[in-house]
Amino acid sequence: MADVRNVIIIGSGPAGYTAGLYTARAMLEPLMFAGYASGGQLMLTSDVENFPGYPEGIAGPEMMLDLRKQAERFGLEVEDKNVEKVDFSSRPFKITVEGEEHLAKAVIITTGADAIWLDAEGEQEQKGKGVSTCATCDGFFFREQEVIVVGGGDSAMEEAHFLTRFASKVTVVHRREYFRASRTMYDRVAAHPKIEIALHRQVKRWLSDESGLSGAILEDPRDGSEHEISCTGAFIAIGHKPNTPFLEGQVETDDSGYIIHSEHTMTSIPGVFAAGDVVDTRYRQAITAAGMGCQAAIDAEKWLEDN
Ligand code: NAP
Repeated sequence: MADVRNVIIIGSGPAGYTAGLYTARAMLEPLMFAGYASGGQLMLTSDVENFPGYPEGIAGPEMMLDLRKQAERFGLEVEDKNVEKVDFSSRPFKITVEGEEHLAKAVIITTGADAIWLDAEGEQEQKGKGVSTCATCDGFFFREQEVIVVGGGDSAMEEAHFLTRFASKVTVVHRREYFRASRTMYDRVAAHPKIEIALHRQVKRWLSDESGLSGAILEDPRDGSEHEISCTGAFIAIGHKPNTPFLEGQVETDDSGYIIHSEHTMTSIPGVFAAGDVVDTRYRQAITAAGMGCQAAIDAEKWLEDN
């Protein structure tokens, strides 16, 4: 029979490492399964300039390493492995990793949500450089430059409007004529003097030169005709998907798979907590995820005390 851990944290990233830091400092000897690709979304970001405490900014991967080291210093045990499945039907909870079962009195889920990418030609090389999925994080780097935003939902509208603070011109590239975005958000974008809208356009290929992204080849899905657009920044806003399929519906989620909190950061299963982008459809920032990771750790600690 495996040892029963006080807390197992599933997923890394700012929420996970902060939960690790707090539970370790509370002497709960937490174990984290960080995933094969540990660190989360920030591993794909170049410079982070909006996380308090780094006056010169910091590279996303470096910040994740710092958060991890800090938590490990207080005793967080980290295994860079993926969780295959969980069984929350009875306590202690069961967590299966590479075929092996681990037991925990409390679980904190911080598996995040992945932005959906287009997977256009050349995208891999431009990720985290010219092509981004977060205007709040990277918009600042494109002052007085021409950028595009891909998508036709509220996220695309919000990002396009936000980018007008920095960019000289923002083109919203959308694959059809109708928008999913709310009327108000669409109208605000359509009326903005810095924003143009390119309809019936799908990014086929990213173009680059020695200084980075230089534009894209857009395809008209109706007839396959190609049109070149120049831009030094591109923001893909076509949605996110939470990393919850491994839970197989054992905690309550919304229709899109985001975990729903039932009391503070506790999920529908008492003793199972969740924090960060796996529950957050609104803020999606490293600092908000870290803050929620702290809340989940404190909630888990109190719950363990009471139970
Ligand atoms: P969304 O509403 O699902 O919109 C995704 C957009 O991306 C759609 O226009 C879709 O085009 C397009 N798209 C999807 N796959 C694509 C592909 N492979 N190539 C090109 N375009 C593609 O997603 P969202 O905008 O992220 O919004 C998600 C939820 O959050 C919504 O409920 C939204 O209202 C909410 N939200 C609210 C706010 C706010 O109120 N402030 C801000 C952001 C988000 P099609 O329309 O052709 O399918």
